[in-house]
Amino acid sequence: MTSPVFDSESKTPWEAEVDVVVVGSGVAGLTAASRAAELGLRVLVVTKGRLADGNTRWAQGGVAVVLADAAGGDGDTGDTLDAHVADTLTAGAGLCDADAVRTVVEAGPAAVEWLRSRGARFDTDPAGRLARTREGGHSAFRVIHAGGDATGAEVQRCLVAATEGLPVLEQHVAVDALTTASGEVCGLRVLAAPDSTPGTVRARAVLLATGGLGQLYQATSNPELATGDGLALALRAGASAADLEFVQFHPTVLYTPGARGRCPLVTEAVRGEGAVLVDAAGDRVMRGVHPLGDLAPRDVVSAAITRRLASAPGGVDDHVFLDATAVTGFAERFPTVLAACTAAGIDPTREPIPVVPAAHFACGGVVTDRHGRTEVAGLYAVGEVARTGLHGANRLASNSLLEGLVMGRRVAEAMAMDLAAGRSAVSDPRPGPTPVAPVAERSVLQRLMSRYAGIGRDAEGMAVAGSVLDVSTKDTPLWTVDAVEDAALTLVARALLAAANTRTESRGCHVRHDHPERDDRLWRRSQTVRLNPSGQPVLTDPILEDVA
Ligand SMILES: Cc1cc2nc3c(=O)[nH]c(=O)nc-3n(C[C@H](O)[C@H](O)[C@H](O)COP(=O)(O)OP(=O)(O)OC[C@H]3O[C@@H](n4cnc5c(N)ncnc54)[C@H](O)[C@@H]3O)c2cc1C
Repeated sequence: MTSPVFDSESKTPWEAEVDVVVVGSGVAGLTAASRAAELGLRVLVVTKGRLADGNTRWAQGGVAVVLADAAGGDGDTGDTLDAHVADTLTAGAGLCDADAVRTVVEAGPAAVEWLRSRGARFDTDPAGRLARTREGGHSAFRVIHAGGDATGAEVQRCLVAATEGLPVLEQHVAVDALTTASGEVCGLRVLAAPDSTPGTVRARAVLLATGGLGQLYQATSNPELATGDGLALALRAGASAADLEFVQFHPTVLYTPGARGRCPLVTEAVRGEGAVLVDAAGDRVMRGVHPLGDLAPRDVVSAAITRRLASAPGGVDDHVFLDATAVTGFAERFPTVLAACTAAGIDPTREPIPVVPAAHFACGGVVTDRHGRTEVAGLYAVGEVARTGLHGANRLASNSLLEGLVMGRRVAEAMAMDLAAGRSAVSDPRPGPTPVAPVAERSVLQRLMSRYAGIGRDAEGMAVAGSVLDVSTKDTPLWTVDAVEDAALTLVARALLAAANTRTESRGCHVRHDHPERDDRLWRRSQTVRLNPSGQPVLTDPILEDVA
């Protein structure tokens, strides 16, 4: 095999060749890259921004993990793996794959140990044990954290250090999968940002670790990179996606009037330490709503806030407040939140923080098995872009960093095994022109999705969103980074609308105003979306089968 050739400085099309190309450099991508390199594979990381950019670095709350003692539970807190599994299944509202949940939860302690062995520093209590906090939906104190509320930054720092020396193409954007004549994935078409120089990476395995899709919405906690690129790429390559209708809205991002793009998060752990949600009149938002009060699961809290805003006297309010004035040691425990509040002119130790729900996490994604394999040979997916069955209809807080660590290692091992058993050489891709895809203007799309496919949805609104999207798209060649992102957002919006419209019930983080009840008789099942031959997302399951 030839060595990689990186010619991204020139306008000349360039080509590279490796065993495994990892797309994305968050917790999932870098964990997988590191493990794949340990296993002797030639790895290249292709990433859209800088190496440290992505959702991971913004994660605040922590990593949910039961630190096992000899008895399989946590001697300090009385927590158990069974309790973590049970909490995950409860949050997932009947749609988790119970085996996937158990295998990820059980592998958690070893994955965290691995990260610590690579230098990750988590916060400790005065006795020197790992400090643990509690977040919404957790029945125990099991969320470990770093730098107070800067867990993601520490995880990212550690993984960037752990992968030092691996070849990386920063500011390069994966456009499309290259396939062989028989449909196997054998590489990627890539653009070097910002001048969009085209290139190809030929690889024996392609791993998508491209994160989430928060930029579908006007208000989101996700950074600008989170445009659903990997999901769109996988659908176009022939893979299927599931649970797309379940977008988790974080109940509390900092409210600043007219804000767009990434909104600073006010981590749930602030409520874990005693802060409470109040409306403009000072009345508790969560009183009488759920037995866990302010620590109820995210969908419950987000829906309660949305209802309270809609029922405000004199019309719709645009935010509520998080009163954290009684939290002791706020500055040390939540330095990131404090900095964001200070930048907005708010002192959270003296006054309530204005907050609002925002798009936060994609519970669904590219369908994979428990080792990150998609249905398309040569194509793998891991992290937020993937749907393993861990999250079901709603993710339990702090389970996604855990998933990235556990599944990142596992998918690397699966790729190594598959490559040892199968393809010994890089295959030649079928020649093809630059792909062309329907593209809607981003601001129009974000407005439509926020208005009609946000926390509350109904058939009428989603029909409006679908028809406006249909008339406002233009077929566009994917030869700029903007076009790649906008095409991904457009395809993912259509797929999400198709799934959300068909699910005529409310479940997990999917709330239908016109079908407010959960309907286990018809809907205790995931929906799968694929592209039909003309590139339209269609549901492929016999979706109305009675499962009672
Ligand atoms: C504000 C915030 C707080 C959070 N807090 C927590 C928490 O406390 N605990 C928890 O468990 N989870 C938390 N989450 C969720 C968690 O951070 C993410 O789910 C997780 O980090 C996703 O990791 P990932 O590796 O899958 O993706 P990311 O970290 O998002 O990385 C995706 C990578 O893919 C790259 N990429 C995207 N498209 C392309 C393309 N076309 N070509 C090349 N590269 C591409 C990006 O540049 C990036 O490097 C939080 C999320 C946010 C936004």
